[in-house]
Amino acid sequence: MTVRTPYLGRFAPSPTGPLHIGSLVAAMASYLDAKVHHGQWLVRIEDVDGDRNVAGADQHILASLQRCGMLWDGEVSWQSRRTGLYQQALRQLGELVYPCGCSRKEIADSQLSLTGRQAQALIYPGTCRHGLAPGKNARALRLKVPQAPHCVLHFDDRWAGPVSQDLTDEAGDFVIKRADGFWAYQLAVVVDDGAQGVTDIVRGADLLDSTPRQLYLQQLLGLPRPSYLHVPVVTNELGEKLSKQTGAMAFDHGAAPQQLLQDAMLPAARLLGMELRADHIDAFWRAAVPAWAQVLRNLPNPR
Ligand code: GLU
Repeated sequence: MTVRTPYLGRFAPSPTGPLHIGSLVAAMASYLDAKVHHGQWLVRIEDVDGDRNVAGADQHILASLQRCGMLWDGEVSWQSRRTGLYQQALRQLGELVYPCGCSRKEIADSQLSLTGRQAQALIYPGTCRHGLAPGKNARALRLKVPQAPHCVLHFDDRWAGPVSQDLTDEAGDFVIKRADGFWAYQLAVVVDDGAQGVTDIVRGADLLDSTPRQLYLQQLLGLPRPSYLHVPVVTNELGEKLSKQTGAMAFDHGAAPQQLLQDAMLPAARLLGMELRADHIDAFWRAAVPAWAQVLRNLPNPR
């Protein structure tokens, strides 16, 4: 394995509910990856979407990480306190950003949609690209994606292997500030990863098809490209992502350590391809670090 130093990883949960098995899998993978590479691991609370935040969920998530023995380096950061950075990035993007007055309904009528987590997100037909139509008010801010020649972005995911996306056809001009005034995830995540110097992003595969938009933003903002590893997301028998909303993945972080291991940590490790045995939390991590190094040896792309 090529050793690249330094390594700065992060876990970036949205505080929309307690940590559940699905998000624990992402947290565990990013934590272990940082440990295997003798790196640092940050926690950033992605509370930029004011509509979906649940009061107290941030503290609950942090307490769960601590109970599971995942201790972060440095101070926790909150996106809601970093909006000045997003404003600055917006200025930097300059003329590539334009106001859009279209409603979801109007965009839906173009009948194109993104896949994955963005199943509800619609590919924008470019209506306001050259100016707001008469009688329309600016709602969201969108970023122009090159139209011709096509803008195809490639990256090598450490887990999924080579990924390419034609941003023009598969994403379209995307929102960087939403109609409700909140900064969009795509912009905030890129600005923060860049500002914090994150070198390695390990997260759920539901974000795989957001990554090319993030690479595009990195290029425009002159930020270095981190390395990516997207771990498979936990799905039900229909292949649907299990979410916090279903409650199916909940676990009690207040349970005794042995219970926490049985109910959450060992199952999460199993979902990452690690069959571990441990009867206390320290023993779990002692076994998990070499087990993750072994998982990495079987991946298409070493770091
Ligand atoms: N905040 C996102 C989530 O909770 C993760 C963002 C990321 O890791 O890039 O799903």
